[in-house]
Amino acid sequence: MRIDGPREVKLIFEESVPGRTGFSLPPLDVPAVEVAEVLPEDLLRTRKPELPEVSEVDVVRHFTRLSERNHGVDSGFYPLGSCTMKYNPKINEDIAALDGFTGLHPYQPEGTVQGALRVIYELQNYLSELMGMDAFTLQPAAGAHGELTGLMLIKAYHRDRGQSDQKQEIIVPDSAHGTNPASAAMCGFKVVEVPSDERGNVDVAALKTVVSERTAGLMLTNPNTLGLFEENILEIADIIHAAGGLLYYDGANANAILGITRPGDMGFDVVHLNLHKTFAAPHGGGGPGSGPVGVKADLIPYLPVPRVQYDGEVYHLDYDHPKSIGKVKGYCGNFLVALKAYAYIRQMGSSGLRAVAENAVLNANYLLAKLQDYFDLPYRRRCMHEFVISGSRQKAHGVKTLDMAKRLLDFGVHAPTIYFPLIVEEALMIEPTETESKETMDQFITIMAQIAREAQENPEVLKQAPRNLPVRRLDEAAAARHPNLKWQGRGA
Ligand SMILES: *Cc1c(COP(=O)(O)O)cnc(C)c1O
Repeated sequence: MRIDGPREVKLIFEESVPGRTGFSLPPLDVPAVEVAEVLPEDLLRTRKPELPEVSEVDVVRHFTRLSERNHGVDSGFYPLGSCTMKYNPKINEDIAALDGFTGLHPYQPEGTVQGALRVIYELQNYLSELMGMDAFTLQPAAGAHGELTGLMLIKAYHRDRGQSDQKQEIIVPDSAHGTNPASAAMCGFKVVEVPSDERGNVDVAALKTVVSERTAGLMLTNPNTLGLFEENILEIADIIHAAGGLLYYDGANANAILGITRPGDMGFDVVHLNLHKTFAAPHGGGGPGSGPVGVKADLIPYLPVPRVQYDGEVYHLDYDHPKSIGKVKGYCGNFLVALKAYAYIRQMGSSGLRAVAENAVLNANYLLAKLQDYFDLPYRRRCMHEFVISGSRQKAHGVKTLDMAKRLLDFGVHAPTIYFPLIVEEALMIEPTETESKETMDQFITIMAQIAREAQENPEVLKQAPRNLPVRRLDEAAAARHPNLKWQGRGA
């Protein structure tokens, strides 16, 4: 009912009515005890918790309303570059919801969790095969956590060779994802930036000037965040290895290479993957994620423990690795996320995964070919799974990329990633993924063409967008300076 205008979503606390409940408990079948008799006094509450008092239907409607305000890959096109918002098949959820998996406890004896250990072991092997690495750990909980783990492995490798005083620098290209320099700094390395050249590759001449005996490693995304494949990757690998450094591959978005090429064959020593991007485990909303890390044989001794091993008969947890960096996450990582990726890989098979890469690249190139009529293109090259266009032509009419991104929301499309990578002015980074149809992409092209026309003829429409969403353009400065984040209690 909308007796007072547009449907407003209240906080669930504001829907609370004293005494209303949404549950009923069975009769007590044990003797009743006063809490004060069993708990020490200092642990007792002094006042009741302020929980919302609502019925079941209140709860269901509240959260259904909230979910309807969200945009997800299940509700519409989501071309968010560098994030790979592909459709996540529901059968993966069904498999991860099986009682035999959800009912497990991480402290169960190994003999009773052989199936789960087998999933971990086999997934590690599949990922090693796909990436051309010798071993994988599933412990890291996200991409950035995988980066930190990988850098800790690189550090342990140099320390073991008595070179930790010397090997203090990690080289990162200026097109890199922001987590790369952040992870390197967090791991105690000095970050050295290397520029890109006019084709969008690492500038090899500039790389040669920053590489030295202090180089611990290079972090590279390939295809890079411009959606371009590093044309000189083998030469880059030689330059870094000749200086005694290691190559780290940011494989968060591996959609373009599955079954086609492998970081291990390009010369990389350490790789992280995002199962919650490339391998169809859902993401957004803050997780949970999974950022497995793969290594070449030289780095296996430093991998986190426990490692899941198989002796031909039983699977077991192996802690006997004295040079290990230790644990980076409880137990074996986010197991149910890994399980969804396992189910996905088993369904796709090797030919299916190769088709993923082929279609992801085809779809991105189709969009790129069509959109370059309306937008500036900073690099005139064939793209991989994503590409970057610039809103510089529209900026001449006083329209920012942010305005165009907001306008897309009016059409039920999630905006692309904007203002990243940092080296492209007014950047829009678009990744359609392989799961979208030509019809969906054609609709998107029509919408983008209309937005480009509006930028010329009616820029106000863009500056005021979104116009047909429950929440209009927000005052972002005020939201950052005076955030209102906390329920202040009843009557506040
Ligand atoms: C998403 C992403 C990351 C970080 O992954 P999280 O799971 O969000 O920590 C790192 N690098 C690239 C290129 C990415 O796209």
